[in-house]
Amino acid sequence: MVQKYGGSSVANVERIQHVAQRVVENRRKGNDMIVVVSAMGDTTDELIEKAAQINPHPSSREMDMLLSTGEQISISLLAMAIEAAGEPVISLTGGMSGILTDTAHKKARIASIDPTRVLKELADGKIVIVAGFQGVTKDWNITTLGRGGSDTTAVALAAAVKADLCEIYTDVEGVFTADPRKVPHASQLPEISYDEMLELAKLGAQVLHPRSVELARKHDVPLVVRSTFSDHPGTRVVEVNRMEQVLVRGVTLDNNIARIAVANVPDQPGIAFGLFKKLADHHITIDMIIQNLNHAAKNDISFTVALDDLHEAAQVSREYLNEIGGQGEVLEKENVSKISIVGTGITGNAEVASKLFGTLFDLGINIEMISTSEIKISCIIDSEKCDEALRQLHTAFALDRLDIV
Ligand code: ADP
Ligand code: ASP
Ligand code: MG
Repeated sequence: MVQKYGGSSVANVERIQHVAQRVVENRRKGNDMIVVVSAMGDTTDELIEKAAQINPHPSSREMDMLLSTGEQISISLLAMAIEAAGEPVISLTGGMSGILTDTAHKKARIASIDPTRVLKELADGKIVIVAGFQGVTKDWNITTLGRGGSDTTAVALAAAVKADLCEIYTDVEGVFTADPRKVPHASQLPEISYDEMLELAKLGAQVLHPRSVELARKHDVPLVVRSTFSDHPGTRVVEVNRMEQVLVRGVTLDNNIARIAVANVPDQPGIAFGLFKKLADHHITIDMIIQNLNHAAKNDISFTVALDDLHEAAQVSREYLNEIGGQGEVLEKENVSKISIVGTGITGNAEVASKLFGTLFDLGINIEMISTSEIKISCIIDSEKCDEALRQLHTAFALDRLDIV
């Protein structure tokens, strides 16, 4: 069995002892235990802040050296707590656990896992504690897997050792129809399909790292999200959810985005290609794109990027405009949000879209961009009323819990 405990679950000494207790109980029931942990509380954020005070643009390699230390603190402390409880235990870094990644520092992908060491320690009767969020390249550089990446460590290990179960322990009682911190009436879902979960995760529900859901689906890892602080059974992520009568499964908000408009560029073949090729060459991931015919022979191309990439994306777009003879202009907007509804078969139902747009209209919210897929509809809106929009959409799609007023 693989269990993963998030940052808030190991935020202080008492909580580490509580986690140790849970792990030891499971071990004493006869389970072979691999336990993945995140850095304590806000450690990762604090390390990022410290780095910024020393160098505003540190290299990604050194950032990974720094950030990986957070998880090393928690694995050793948890191992000590389990030692104190009298069970054999060993803590291992990502590299020691055989987690090999590509070289994309700060957003590395796991290339392969050699579980030999982990399996040997399990065979010796030890509980194995593994540092989440990290791996090594084949040249022995430490990498990290992107924010929230410990979930992916857990699922990847579960796949590599063919675990019977992978449990993600966090500070809420599973996956909800919306972030329960923003929507107090959000309902807990007993189960959700891999596809829906993947979409929720990609669209801003941070409860699971998107890549962990992809891996779980690909390798058929039985995945459960549940609370460290209660015995609630949590949410099972399953192949197909059986609650098919429910169309909209959840509402999400992503504030970590920005919009760029490249306005008044010539309406001729090759302009979009040139712009997006240049952005791709800089490894900038583009999300939504919209192009409108402005007026005679001119286009506006708007797109969204991760907030972190805004500065570079705007810079690159300006360079591109210079290359095509200084035509057009680049406009940036930071305070935008992506609000989305997710559910199987959403776009096959015309009422869903009209209810979404109608609810935003009732709030006086202008929709700047729209994108749809079989399983979601997303709108880019001004951030100002995004929390209000989230709650109203949740109510409009009848997702509110009825037992709290
Ligand atoms: P951990 O440190 O355990 O990995 P995270 O902060 O990464 O925890 O993820 C858990 C948080 O995700 C919750 O505290 C909750 O606020 C947030 N969240 C956002 N959307 C959802 C959702 N749809 N269901 C459950 N939690 C959500
Ligand atoms: N500690 C890392 C982060 O804060 C990884 C994780 O929590 O999953 O992003
Ligand atoms: Mg997380």
